[in-house]
Amino acid sequence: MSLLDDYAQISGNDVIAHLQQLAAPFHGARVVHVNSTRVGGGVAEILTKMIPLMQELGINASWEVITGESQFYECTKGMHNTLQGNQIHLSDKLLGVYERTNAENAEALRESLTEADFVFIHDPQPAALLQHFPNRKGKWIWRCHIDASHPYRPVWKYLRKFIVPYDASIFSLAAFAHELPHPIYLIPPSIDPLSDKNIELEPGAVRQVYEKYTLDPERPLILQVSRFDRFKDPIGVIEAYQLAKKYLPSLQLVLAGGEATDDPEGGVVLGEVQEAAYGDPDINILLLPSDAHLEINALQRAADIVLQKSIREGFGLTVTEAMWKGKPVIGGDVGGIRLQVINHHTGFLASTPEGAALRIRYLLYQPAKIREMGEKARVFVRDNFLITRHLREYLALMVALLY
Ligand code: UDP
Repeated sequence: MSLLDDYAQISGNDVIAHLQQLAAPFHGARVVHVNSTRVGGGVAEILTKMIPLMQELGINASWEVITGESQFYECTKGMHNTLQGNQIHLSDKLLGVYERTNAENAEALRESLTEADFVFIHDPQPAALLQHFPNRKGKWIWRCHIDASHPYRPVWKYLRKFIVPYDASIFSLAAFAHELPHPIYLIPPSIDPLSDKNIELEPGAVRQVYEKYTLDPERPLILQVSRFDRFKDPIGVIEAYQLAKKYLPSLQLVLAGGEATDDPEGGVVLGEVQEAAYGDPDINILLLPSDAHLEINALQRAADIVLQKSIREGFGLTVTEAMWKGKPVIGGDVGGIRLQVINHHTGFLASTPEGAALRIRYLLYQPAKIREMGEKARVFVRDNFLITRHLREYLALMVALLY
């Protein structure tokens, strides 16, 4: 059986036939995706699966990763934070490193990007590559994954000049889109139901994570999976847990995270989280390696409720992953979480630790509600947020750019 047959089992034959039809004009076409990390975070997660699926459809798809020194990541993390609303001044020196790193990577990627028929540039890190390709052959698309609804103006103004010459931009939802002199597409991300992160597991695999992390399967478990990043509000999760635990003393919390190679702030935030959790043996902070997909899958299945209490969120693949496993998600009332968590139906939106604690208590007192919401959540993801829908929209965009 081919990979496409496997997807047909989940999404249906019609969906696959439609993909094949849309991909037909692109047999042999060179499509290059560019981002700044191969592991960690949602973009890497998506590209790991999107590239093979494009290849399976006959497209000559590849993935390039730009690299830089530590100051480059310091600058791009600053851009990420400012696009999500933080007011931080980025010095001329750091911006100089940003531009120089893009120029160096442009040389390293010269052949592949000059010849490509389509180039998808993900997020701000590689956005300044385009200016180094005056003789480019193909269409270039800037794909913004972050919540850029309220950017810090000086940084957006600086970045915008690199983005203007692109042939199109993609944002995950309308609230993030900006006026640009080229077509704007709204395409939410997706998960791959066949990846290790999301495939069905034997009950033994879930038992194993309980044992490995000395969690008690008889007691309620809430979970947040996230990089240690303040936008993910791990401290707010601990506060929500502490408030709920006053009424549910047997409650257990797992905060599972790892590092992304392009995120230099993780260590500091992890320290803050450890301090906030200090002294409570029922708070489990797990530092997982970047390839712990099966383990995260098992943890998401082990949890009764999954939290994603972000205060800014481009999309939140962790939300999609949990919903696909039939879990109600209590998510921050922001960005892409709003697209997925339909309040009171597929989960709850909560803006404060108090609000999240209230919903934790509500659900844990009513297991039938957990099942009902979880089932709605699973169907919602099947219908809207699987990789097959995502790829269909990329292909439709590519068709549109041909004319
Ligand atoms: N993830 C992981 N290990 C971790 C933390 C996160 O594999 O320790 C994965 C998570 O399962 C999800 C992705 O990284 O697939 C995070 O994507 P999301 O959109 O939730 O957030 P981002 O990190 O891109 O802001």
